[in-house]
Amino acid sequence: MARAWRAMLDQAGLGAFATFIAREAGPVPPSDPGASPSIWCPDDPVSELTEYELYGTPIGGPVPAGTALPGDPIEEATHAGRPIATVHGRTICIDADLPAFFDACLSRREEVGADLDKHGRFDLNATRLRAWLERPVLDWWGRVLRVAVERAGWAFPSIAVAGNWHATLTHDVDHIDHVAKKPAASLEGGLARKISDRLGRGESAGERALRVWSDLERKHGWRGTYYFLGQPEGTANRGYEVSDERTSAAIRRLDEQGHEIGLHASYDAMTDPGLLEGERDRIATLAGRTPGDGSLAGVRAHYLRYEHPTTAISHRDAGFVYDASLGYTAATGYRAGTSRPFDAIDPRDGTAIGITTIPFAMMDCSYLSALKMTMDQARARVTEQLEEICALGGAASLLFHPCRLTTDGDPYDHLFRFCLDELRRLGATVLTAEQLAARHRQVASIVATRVHAVDGRLELDFDAPDGISDIDIRAPKGWSIDLSESGTVVHAVMTRSGA
Ligand SMILES: [Zn+2]
Repeated sequence: MARAWRAMLDQAGLGAFATFIAREAGPVPPSDPGASPSIWCPDDPVSELTEYELYGTPIGGPVPAGTALPGDPIEEATHAGRPIATVHGRTICIDADLPAFFDACLSRREEVGADLDKHGRFDLNATRLRAWLERPVLDWWGRVLRVAVERAGWAFPSIAVAGNWHATLTHDVDHIDHVAKKPAASLEGGLARKISDRLGRGESAGERALRVWSDLERKHGWRGTYYFLGQPEGTANRGYEVSDERTSAAIRRLDEQGHEIGLHASYDAMTDPGLLEGERDRIATLAGRTPGDGSLAGVRAHYLRYEHPTTAISHRDAGFVYDASLGYTAATGYRAGTSRPFDAIDPRDGTAIGITTIPFAMMDCSYLSALKMTMDQARARVTEQLEEICALGGAASLLFHPCRLTTDGDPYDHLFRFCLDELRRLGATVLTAEQLAARHRQVASIVATRVHAVDGRLELDFDAPDGISDIDIRAPKGWSIDLSESGTVVHAVMTRSGA
């Protein structure tokens, strides 16, 4: 639960102050709030998500149109006619067990021992977040806390990844050397390639797709993340020859251009973790790296075969620092209730697993295949999602399959280009998944060690083991802040503006 408490405060940019914010409990809000910052939540132990808590999310209103938010969420969130969040002096009262809600969402407790679908994945219909899947509820709660903190006049600065909001462009490379319409035809594709090689034909459709999309990303000044399957020749479900010269040339080209190379863990790796290291080393070698732990930062499971917490643990054990598998095929939205990266939590004992989760919010084939949306519907949903994540300062992780791109202007190509234009329009800071995970960890490792009020100003010390180079530390309204660094210690002096 302590991890969920920190994660909850991180959503508001206040995670570093977790130990300086008292957690009040009890059956009713305190009538005499203390002088120091505190958050009250009812003390009923909540072991699972209840209807009440879901109802108690602050987003009962309509989906925001444009970038405008539906007013001030503190007033809008009500339950039985009562506001869910109120401010009394320095105490923020949340009339729902919010830390328990965060714990339930982020630890994915509901997935342990749950029904699985035919590919061994957690069943979308089994989640208690079903009604809220399309909204990043935890990000909304972060906004509620930020507004409440402002009202309560807490003078803590917010600490978050630099940029107002973030996006990451990720790609699962399921096939390279033949067009997408024949996904299982590795033999056929291999033969077709050999024939075309012999005929001296230029690049294949798959190679072309990688080039076109990665060049498009670079044209925007961004870099993408490409996950490659690393199964050896002769195994089942293999999409391409990983040892093929043309495949390795494609991987090296992406790597040299600054795109991130990750592992697309094979279908069988979920139930046979021993396969992972071999696959990792094969892709690391093809990318020109020394194989071994840390040679690739990230992994996403093919078919999104992810069982919690065992898959996260085996991915950690194989030396990956983040996992990007969490999401659904047949829905767009937020499997863990948030668009942002978070530290994976083992629901069995509440400990950190030691790997960062980057949940994805949108996947091309969810819109265009599983949900059978028209292009107009897909575009509208993309805009709705990106505008909401932008407004909440979240992180949109997009998943697009290059192998689906057959010609310029096909629906997958069209939707991808539309997404890039929307990210540009909404001013996203686009990072590779590895960068996003690293900066998330950088923020999560910052801890305030001293908060001291003196002569109307505030002095704060932070321990920041990875520095603050990619971090925004922002003073609250009405305050200015001066920062100085000495080793891993950051010293901040805050003064009231105009004082
Ligand atoms: Zn795949």
